Parts: sequence; structure tokens; C-alpha cells
Amino acid sequence: MTTLHQHDPEVEIQQALHELRGRLSGSLIEPQDPLYEEARAVWNGMVNHRPRAVARAGAVSDIDVVLDVVRRSGLALAVRGGGHNIAGHGTVEGGLVLDLGPLRAVNVDARSRLVTVEPGATLADVDRATAAHGLAVPLGVISGTGVAGLTLGGGVGWLTRSHGLSVDNLDSVDVVTASGEHLHASEQENTELFWGLRGGGGNFGIASSFTFRSHPLPVTPLGGNLFYRQPRWRDALVAFATWTRDLPDAMNPIISFLVLPPGFGMGDEPWMIVGLAWVAEDHQAGLELIEQLRVEAPPDEQEVGGTSWLDWQSAMDTVFPKGSRGYWKNVAFSRLDEEVVDVLVGFASELAWHGTGIDIHHLEGAFGRVPEEATAFPNRSAQYWLNVYGYWQDPSEDERLTAFARKAHALMQPFSEHGEYVNFLGADLGHQDADAARHAYGQDKYQRLVALKDRYDPHNLFRLNHNIPPTPA
Ligand SMILES: Cc1cc2nc3c(=O)[nH]c(=O)nc-3n(C[C@H](O)[C@H](O)[C@H](O)COP(=O)(O)OP(=O)(O)OC[C@H]3O[C@@H](n4cnc5c(N)ncnc54)[C@H](O)[C@@H]3O)c2cc1C
Repeated sequence: MTTLHQHDPEVEIQQALHELRGRLSGSLIEPQDPLYEEARAVWNGMVNHRPRAVARAGAVSDIDVVLDVVRRSGLALAVRGGGHNIAGHGTVEGGLVLDLGPLRAVNVDARSRLVTVEPGATLADVDRATAAHGLAVPLGVISGTGVAGLTLGGGVGWLTRSHGLSVDNLDSVDVVTASGEHLHASEQENTELFWGLRGGGGNFGIASSFTFRSHPLPVTPLGGNLFYRQPRWRDALVAFATWTRDLPDAMNPIISFLVLPPGFGMGDEPWMIVGLAWVAEDHQAGLELIEQLRVEAPPDEQEVGGTSWLDWQSAMDTVFPKGSRGYWKNVAFSRLDEEVVDVLVGFASELAWHGTGIDIHHLEGAFGRVPEEATAFPNRSAQYWLNVYGYWQDPSEDERLTAFARKAHALMQPFSEHGEYVNFLGADLGHQDADAARHAYGQDKYQRLVALKDRYDPHNLFRLNHNIPPTPA
């Protein structure tokens, strides 16, 4: 016999979904919907979750609707911006996805250079809007990535040395907290929350709007790629280390070790590519600087010249199609002496297949001048950031290629500095979430983040992220 007061979780979930169907201004996509397969997919094809439903936001007010229903039903909530999270946090098995992807408006105030961005915008949306005014917001390097996830974790790309991380260019964020409170966080208001949002990920609430400071860009920035075959890697890295010692902020280098896809016409051998973005008007000064590196380390192939910012920002998009399989690891380090170069060249030389890459971001510049305590982002003193990443297509490669990323990461541990970048971290079954986050942020920042979590999300409603669990009640 059933009583009127008996709890049936399944009935409550069905009621919650029914309520959402009625209240959302966007759409609720459920397993029987023809759009479900596409709606549940995220960038990382290794993440194959089947949520109860995907709530596609039609307006910012849908955030309130979803939070209200999730609080009462207990459904696990995944918040999705661009769906590019490597750990697959933009979806959830058996829970509810709030997909903010349809909310992509970008407003540029050319006079103040402030750029207001809705939470589903991709980097391409922002780049297109700002380029029309000769401006740019520092974001990442692949144009389909979501601004929301990228920014909340940090945001490293082709302007990091010139203008800092994405978070360093945040003017303010509008946030809806777990209790449904709408807060404006900036250097003037809710300052501790603003600190945590700049690197702490989606732990404290749902960002409904971001306002960035943008920067003037040259009409044609100078872009360069110097390509080295494997026998030259060691010498090129040693020369690069010397060359980066006094680099002006306008020069933004990223090294990649990759086998490029056929469309690039670079054969099927692995290349070390020194990518260079010079973002000052004076091309001659940039060319002279690049020439110094070319003299010390003559490349096997090269392309250097004026480029459009939009072309540059999307040049590598085809390497990383949605549905690729990815497991990423990262290491912050400052030594690039011969011992470290040997280790780097050692594991990079094993990389002879398409679908795995290694990037070395050279930092310092504007990035390094931000005081360590100014944001939750973990490490400002590191000179380089290593990212070992995957984008392979064949599931039978999963074990071998995740093992490669782990091995490269392990080999770099003797040289690693504190901190890991959460946006370059895959889901790691070897760690509990709390351990991963504590390790990523370091003990002091982690404690400060826990205090914020206690204040804004004491029941851990926002837990599908590199989670900072609240203090147990
Ligand atoms: C191909 C590729 C290229 C990349 N390149 C770069 C790069 O150049 N530089 C760089 O720094 N990173 C880069 N990344 C990493 C990227 O920053 C992270 O994967 C980031 O999480 C992606 O954000 P998203 O919005 O697309 O992801 P999602 O999967 O949609 O979300 C990521 C996380 O953010 C949370 N979140 C999303 N939206 C909100 C919101 N509105 N409010 C609160 N929380 C939210 C989610 O809950 C989730 O935990 C790249 C990733 C890929 C796959």
C-alpha cells in the first residue's frame, strides 16, 4: 500500500522534467527527441554520458528556472558553455544539462573598449565582434571553445604575454548562485567572489554574463610558424630558451609538437612548430626578432607574414574536430636548460602519430606581472606551461594515448612548479576530485576557494567541475 507522503525519486524527477517543459523559454531535449544524440554530445568523444534531458536556454532567465527545479528535485546539474571541457564536465550521466550554448550575443562598446559576452559564446563569436572594431579580448587558440569555461579556468592563448590571461581582462561577471541570488562581481563589488571566479572554474555559480576589457590590435598582426624536423628539435629548443630571455610583450610564442593532418600538406612526420604572434604595429621590429631566432636555429620550413586576426585565431581549428577523444595533462615549469630539453625531446620524439600533441606556452610578460594573490589562477611565476593533449579518433587508441600523456607528465615532474591549469586537465580516475583541485591550486588558494564554496554553494550543487567540495556540515 502506498501512502500519500511516500517519496518516489523517479516520480519527483518526472515532475521536475514536466515542470521544465512548461517553464523553459528554450527547449528541453529528452532521449526520445531526434535532436538528443547531437544535444548530449560534448567535444571529448571519450565522454559518452546520457543525461535525463538537455535544457537548451532560450534566455538568461532559464538559469533561474533550471536552478529552481534542480534545487527541489535533486537532479545532478551539468552547466555547459561551449562543451569543450576536456574532463567532460559539460554533461552528466542521468542528470540534467543546462546548455547555455544558444546565448551567444556579444556587445562591443568601442569607446570604453568593454565587451559584454553571453555565457554560450564561443571564441569565434567574440573575435568576430571585436575584430570589427580593431579590438581583441585575450582568449584561447581554437575558435570553437566556449568563452565561459575557458575564462572561469583562466584562458591562455596568443595574447597572454601581451595582455595576460582572459581572467586578467575581466572587468566583471554576473553570477547566479546556488540559492538563486543574482550577484555582480568585480573589483568593487563581491570582490572575494570575483577573485574566485578568476581561475576557480564553475564552482561558485552560473555566470550569466562576462564583461571584458579589450585591446587594440594592429590591422594585420604578424604571424609566423617555424617548422623543425626531429633532428633539429634539441638545438631549436636550446636556441628558443635563450631567445625568450628578454622577449618584448608583443611577441607571443607557442611551440607545438604535432603530426599535422593531411590538409596542411606537411606530410605525416612529426614537426616542432614555433608559432609566433607579434601584435605590435611595427612589423619590422617583429621580423628582426624572428630573424634572430632563425639565425640561431634555422627552420626546415617557415611561413612568416601579415595575417588577419580571425584567420590566425582559427588556423588550427580543423585539427580539433568535435567528437575527438582527449585526455590532457599539464605542467608549469621555469627551467628550459639542456637537461629539461633532453627530457622534452625524449618524449616528444615518441610522438609519431596524428592525434596527440605537446604545446609549450612561453609565459611571463603581462601574465607574469599579475600578483600571485590577485586571482585564483594557480601560478604566475612559471615561465613555461607544458600541455600534453589528445584529439585522436579511434577508441582502440584510448589506452595507449592516455598512457603517453601520463608518461610525459610524469617525466616532467622533477622540473614542475606548483599548480596545474584546470582547463588543461582531463578527468583523472587516479585522483579524488578534492585531491586534484587541491593539487591544482595549492593549499593556500585551495583553502580560500573552499571558504568561497562554503559561502556560495554549501551543498555543492555545482559539482561537475574540477570540484572544490564545501566543508562538510
Ligand atoms: C580543442 C580545444 C582547444 C582548447 N584550447 C584552449 C586554449 O587555447 N586556451 C585555454 O585556456 N584553454 C583551451 N582549452 C581548454 C578549455 O579552456 C576548457 O576545456 C574549457 O573548460 C572549455 O570551456 P567550454 O565552455 O567550452 O566548456 P564546457 O564543457 O561547456 O564547460 C566547462 C566547465 O565550465 C563550467 N561552465 C561552463 N559555462 C559556465 C557558466 N556560464 N557558469 C559557470 N560555469 C560554467 C562547466 O560546468 C564546466 O565545468 C581547449 C579545449 C579544447 C577541447
